[in-house]
Parts: sequence; C-alpha cells; structure tokens
Amino acid sequence: MEWKLSRILIVEDDETILFALRSALGRNGYEVSAAGSLEEAGCAAQNPPDLILLDLGLPDGEGMTLLKACREAGGPPVIILTARDDEADIIKGLDAGADDYVTKPFKLGILLSRIRAALRRAGEKDGEPGREETQLLTCGDVVLDKKRTRVSVGGRETVLTAGEYRLLEILLENKNRTLTRTLLLERLWDIDGDFVNSNTLTVLIKRLREKLGGDPQRIIHTVRGIGYKAEETPFQTADWRSAAGKPAICGRDENE
Ligand code: CA
Repeated sequence: MEWKLSRILIVEDDETILFALRSALGRNGYEVSAAGSLEEAGCAAQNPPDLILLDLGLPDGEGMTLLKACREAGGPPVIILTARDDEADIIKGLDAGADDYVTKPFKLGILLSRIRAALRRAGEKDGEPGREETQLLTCGDVVLDKKRTRVSVGGRETVLTAGEYRLLEILLENKNRTLTRTLLLERLWDIDGDFVNSNTLTVLIKRLREKLGGDPQRIIHTVRGIGYKAEETPFQTADWRSAAGKPAICGRDENE
C-alpha cells in the first residue's frame, strides 16, 4: 500500500491554539491545513482531509453544522475540540457523529493518540481487512467472535444474553471511542424493535461487567455524565482472577 501523510484540517478561530496545533501536528508528520470559520472550512474541504479537528464556537456559526454536513456526506472522522465541562456539547457532538472529543486545554500527547486512533479506525473501515480478521473483536482478554456469536474471557467461553452480546459488540466495534447513552440506546433498540430504556441499559452494563469479571471498569469504562467506552487498561494485563483472592468490586455506575 502506498504510504502518504495523513491530512488534518483544523477548524479553530483561536489563533494561539491554531498556531500551536499547526506546528505540533506538522512536527508529528501530519500535513495540516487550517480554517478559522465555517466558510473557510467549506473551501478547505474541496481538498478532502483524512481527519477534522473541529472547534464548536466559530465566528460565523456552530461547528456542529459542519459536523452534521460532514456525516451526511460520509466525510472523514471528526474530533471535537471543546472547552472543559461543556458536557451538553460533547454529548450533542458525539450523537451527531463525532468520532471523539478533546477538552481544552488539552495535552498534546492525548490529542495525538486520539488522532491516531480515529485515523486507524477510519483506515480499518476503508481498507476492509480480511473477513476472518473482522470476525474477531478483542479488548484485553475479552474476545468476541462474530462468526460464531461467542464471547470468551481469558480463553474461557462466557454465555451472554442477546442484549448483553449486542451491547458488547457495539462497544468493541468502537473500541477506545466514547459512546453516549443515547447512541447505545438507539443501537440496542435497532435489534428487534424492543424498546430499551435507560434503566435497561444500566442493568445490561452491570450484568455484562459482572460476566466479564474483575474490576467493573476493566473493559467497559464509565465516561462520567456521558456514556461508556471499551478500552484496555494496564490493570488488566495482570491476572485479576488470582489477584490475592480479591473479590470482584462492583462499583456504582457514575452515570446513574
Ligand atoms: Ca472558538
């Protein structure tokens, strides 16, 4: 496969942030273009980027407008750059199809790792890896085999209900990406038309975590006030089953 620089479009009207991002991304091997408004972003999109970093408050409108247009057109992944504590905006953005979000002020290392993850997911979608490969979804010692509709934890098969299986499948298909409760409810609702309410989701998450074993946050992380994400944590590299006979901790779900 031909190797090329990934192109990132930064849509940001704060010149200080823009300058810092531009040089940092350039130093890290990305080809960068910038737009300070929705209008400029429209022009820049003529030469489609591989990823967009999107500020929500722009001088000529809401970044959300661009996000929606981008999703309708099947555009590149979008990472929202937003001020801290704008929980409502983050939820709106993720529900509108943003791939991820980073709150300002952000650490460059974190932003770079989010960018790499979003580009990797987009590349996996485009590159359509072999069928066998896409049949196995993994996170730590959890393996979901789509072909056989089976789940194993640490090599041992775990029996899940249809709802638990579907929930795990959605989370693993979007590994390292925060999914809002609304989005999860919509996707779960799709299966067979049964209405899944917020309480059902909480119960499903709790049961699924119990079946996956260990610390409840081991595979399925609670993103406070927003939703959930499947992510590998350093913790799980240790064998939690033999962790000094420590009982599984069943913590409260912070989203309740
Ligand atoms: Ca702004």
